[in-house]
Amino acid sequence: MKRIAVVGGGVAGFGVALVAGDDADVTVFERNERVGGRAATHERAGCVYDVGANYVKSDDERVSRVVRELGDGLVETDGPVWTFDADGEISEGRDEETPKWTYRNGLGTLGKRLCEASGATVRTDTRIAGLRRDDAWYVEDDDGDEYGPWDALVLTPPAPITASLLDLAAWDDEARRELREHVGHVPYRPILSVALHYSFDIERPYYALVNADKEHEVGWVARESCKPGHVPDGESLLVVQMAPDWSATHYDDDDFEVATAVADRAADLLSEHSLAAPDWYDVIRWRDALPDDGADRNVLRQGAAADLFFAGDWVAGEGRVHRALASGLETGDEISD
Ligand SMILES: Cc1cc2nc3c(=O)[nH]c(=O)nc-3n(C[C@H](O)[C@H](O)[C@H](O)COP(=O)(O)OP(=O)(O)OC[C@H]3O[C@@H](n4cnc5c(N)ncnc54)[C@H](O)[C@@H]3O)c2cc1C
Repeated sequence: MKRIAVVGGGVAGFGVALVAGDDADVTVFERNERVGGRAATHERAGCVYDVGANYVKSDDERVSRVVRELGDGLVETDGPVWTFDADGEISEGRDEETPKWTYRNGLGTLGKRLCEASGATVRTDTRIAGLRRDDAWYVEDDDGDEYGPWDALVLTPPAPITASLLDLAAWDDEARRELREHVGHVPYRPILSVALHYSFDIERPYYALVNADKEHEVGWVARESCKPGHVPDGESLLVVQMAPDWSATHYDDDDFEVATAVADRAADLLSEHSLAAPDWYDVIRWRDALPDDGADRNVLRQGAAADLFFAGDWVAGEGRVHRALASGLETGDEISD
């Protein structure tokens, strides 16, 4: 059996493991305690809420099939997405046919299910800090422990992290410099995502509001109670994602300052003063939240000559769960071939 190391236990990493694991031994290294990456869910006081990706919506038949097959507890988000502009003017959005999926236990379930289905060996709490290429690949964690040899290595963290791994790699090859330069130029934007809880109902004709002109400080507001099983009756939980500029400026503010400012803006946007005073909040900082562009696959292919592969939303060219998963499945095909 070939031995493959995958850095990153998000949906892309497990997409690789799911396919390549049919005829190879795959080990996934994940820096966090939990798998799933930016498809992440928190639980608190009886509420379940998606703090990264809010739902998965797929126009890709292969991805839809995988999601359905792993779908015990898969639920559809109820209600349309409406829009608002720079002045906070709300407009009715299109009623889309494609279902917006999450799980009863939140979108984090997708990473867990992919992980189980892949059969990969998973090392959580293991941040890879170094790469070395000899006759084979070796990876080193931040405690200095080295793992290997690996016949193939797959890098799936967001592009800025992948670029810094390539930067430090002990791999004497011209391709390393070119890959590092190219991957390092894939832009990512930060997002501060804030959950605001209220002990009363917030009734609206929409599930979520998205800022269409990208001129508002708020980028997205969603009512988590539109997801079956997420919020107890008689309560409400808003997930508010702030625009990239606002998020960058306030990234290091303390949680209370961020939550207060965000709740004020939610109250203004939804024209309901009581929303300025949530009874609890949860602030989540995503430094590399969404790619603004994708990498050139022809440049990335240079890695294949040295059994180095890439997957993730930045490889697919869009910050979407289904695109990241599709990228992982495709990279798995490429390695198997
Ligand atoms: C706030 C927010 C809202 C979003 N909303 C949506 C949405 O509604 N719908 C949608 O489809 N998409 C949405 N997205 C985008 C979607 O979440 C991502 O595109 C997708 O989850 C990316 O998956 P990935 O596997 O490529 O990367 P990730 O999920 O980032 O996985 C990479 C993994 O690598 C790990 N890692 C990083 N560095 C190391 C290291 N050195 N060693 C070991 N492990 C490492 C990380 O911890 C992570 O688990 C949203 C994202 C954010 C942040």
